[in-house]
Amino acid sequence: MSLSPPSSPSPPIAPFVRLFGRYLRDQGLPVTQQREAIAELVFGSDEHLSVDDIEKRLREAGDRIGKATIYRTLDLLVRSQLVAEHDFGEGFKRYEHRLSRQPEHEHLICTECGAVTEFKSREVQEIKGAVEAEYGFRASRHKLEIYGLCRSCQEKGVELDQDGLTCPIETV
Ligand SMILES: [Zn+2]
Ligand SMILES: [Zn+2]
Repeated sequence: MSLSPPSSPSPPIAPFVRLFGRYLRDQGLPVTQQREAIAELVFGSDEHLSVDDIEKRLREAGDRIGKATIYRTLDLLVRSQLVAEHDFGEGFKRYEHRLSRQPEHEHLICTECGAVTEFKSREVQEIKGAVEAEYGFRASRHKLEIYGLCRSCQEKGVELDQDGLTCPIETV
C-alpha cells in the first residue's frame, strides 16, 4: 500500500482527539491546548513523523511548543495505543497514528533519503498464520521492515551499498 495522495479526503480527526482527551482524564492528566494541538497534527497526517517534523509543522501553524512537551505528549499518545512508535535506525523515532489505516502494514525505508512507504502483504499474513499454527502461538503484532533505496534515489543515481552483504567465504 502506498501513501494516499494529499488530495484524498482524510477522516475527521476530532473523535480521535476526544479519545485522547478521555485517555488523559482517565490518567488524571490535564487536557491542555498544547497536547491537543500535537494530537491533531499526528492524527491529521498519514506520514511517519519525527519530533523535528512535528515541531516544524506546529511552528508553521503558529504553535510554539517545546520539544520536551512534544516528547512527553507523544509518549502519552503511544501509551494510549492511538499512535505507534517506530525506530527505523535513523537515531530518532518516528510516529504514525493507528486509526483508519491498515492495522497491519509493513514498511519500506529508504536509507538514502529516509522516505518511508507502507505496503500490505497477504503472504506475510499467511506466514504469520502458519507459524502460529505450527508453534501454537497467538500473535498480537509483528514487524517487517525492508531497507534499501527508493525509486527516486535510484533515479538520481544513488547506488546500493553492498558492503557487508557478500559472503565472507567467497571473498577469501
Ligand atoms: Zn530515497
Ligand atoms: Zn506505517
